[in-house]
Amino acid sequence: MTYLIRGASILGGDPTDLLLRDGVIAGIGTGLAEDAETIDATGLIALPGLVDLHTHLREPGREDAETVLTGTQAAAMGGFTAVHAMANTEPVADTAGVVEQVWRLGREAGYCDVYPIGAVTVGLGGTQLAELGAMADSAARVRVFSDDGKCVSDAVLMRRALEYVKAFDGVVAQHAQEPRLTEGAQMNEGELSGRLGLAGWPAVAEEAIIARDCLLAAHVGSRLHVCHVSTAGSVEIVRQAKEKGWNVTAEACPHHLLLTDELASTYDPIFKVNPPLRSAADVEALRAGLADGTIDIVATDHAPHPHEDKDCEWAAAAFGMLGLETALSIVQETMVDPGLLDWAGVADRLSYAPARIGRVSDHGQPIAEGAPAHLVLYDPSVRRVIDAGDSASLSRNTPYAGRELPGRVVATFLRGRATVLDGKLC
Ligand SMILES: [Zn+2]
Repeated sequence: MTYLIRGASILGGDPTDLLLRDGVIAGIGTGLAEDAETIDATGLIALPGLVDLHTHLREPGREDAETVLTGTQAAAMGGFTAVHAMANTEPVADTAGVVEQVWRLGREAGYCDVYPIGAVTVGLGGTQLAELGAMADSAARVRVFSDDGKCVSDAVLMRRALEYVKAFDGVVAQHAQEPRLTEGAQMNEGELSGRLGLAGWPAVAEEAIIARDCLLAAHVGSRLHVCHVSTAGSVEIVRQAKEKGWNVTAEACPHHLLLTDELASTYDPIFKVNPPLRSAADVEALRAGLADGTIDIVATDHAPHPHEDKDCEWAAAAFGMLGLETALSIVQETMVDPGLLDWAGVADRLSYAPARIGRVSDHGQPIAEGAPAHLVLYDPSVRRVIDAGDSASLSRNTPYAGRELPGRVVATFLRGRATVLDGKLC
């Protein structure tokens, strides 16, 4: 299929035409003529295909919550062309066999390129290093390793993992949660948790692990990535590590850029997430950190759950919320519209930088002639009310239902093939 996109604004620049042919961007310029399917992109922003470094696709094992097919369909609807699938599946993605299965399912589905993340420890058990080398050498070519959902809290294991991944330029993505400091924790620790009678989750439980891991990464000369940074103190620690020239990167999630712990007062578990929603001051620090590059990327932590795991009392409910289909709108709302980030900055934080951290060479490239045709067309001028029932995900646990958000993904192209057109799945 050949597409001629008319009048798109690349990263917010002057309108131009884009020709997508044979999987690549074959031409950029005004007044292009070609026998092709023509798309009127007047008023639309063209961005490189988004790359998510933190997605839970749930398959294998929890196909009642999400499958590789439905998760990548949700990703395409959100403008993503590549997602990294977290390892906390059943069985855990801790062998070459499981990561190759997930990788293959992604290719068969065809909506997004799926890059499996390998577990750091066997069964996420936190006691024995998984076969990192075998996963790196597999057909899935794993470069990102994480026990996400659980913290690699044993300092010796964390050190060994950081040392091991150096051999193939891998990175350890840490879910920073000191387990003893968060036993039974339900929400951000503060005045509100005391008032609501929910066990508090102190900021220091996240910050202590991040500080330790930055020191470990510097000590062994390896690459550390910090998942879902949620506190002002964490931003400050990452900032200091970067000032020292240490190889540390960090992500923020859309929900931590928008929502605060005040929502816990509803006792609605739709707002229960790990790490928890924090204070307004933390939200402000995250936005500033993302703007100045201390926080390298936005990652969704898309965490689908069937309603029986969320539709219960707060303490019994699962942690996590959907994120793929609303990420770009929330970045517009929290970063672009207030003037903290321009569209070139959005392309960096949601495409170039996550691809670079994940060592994905086929994604996250600037929109240029000859580049792979991974592309999003986005309309920033519309506003829409989020309806959970509209989601392409198998699950419905969006915290934004009923909320009005700006922007809409109009089209997504993966290697020049439309996965989304007119805001609908192809
Ligand atoms: Zn996590």
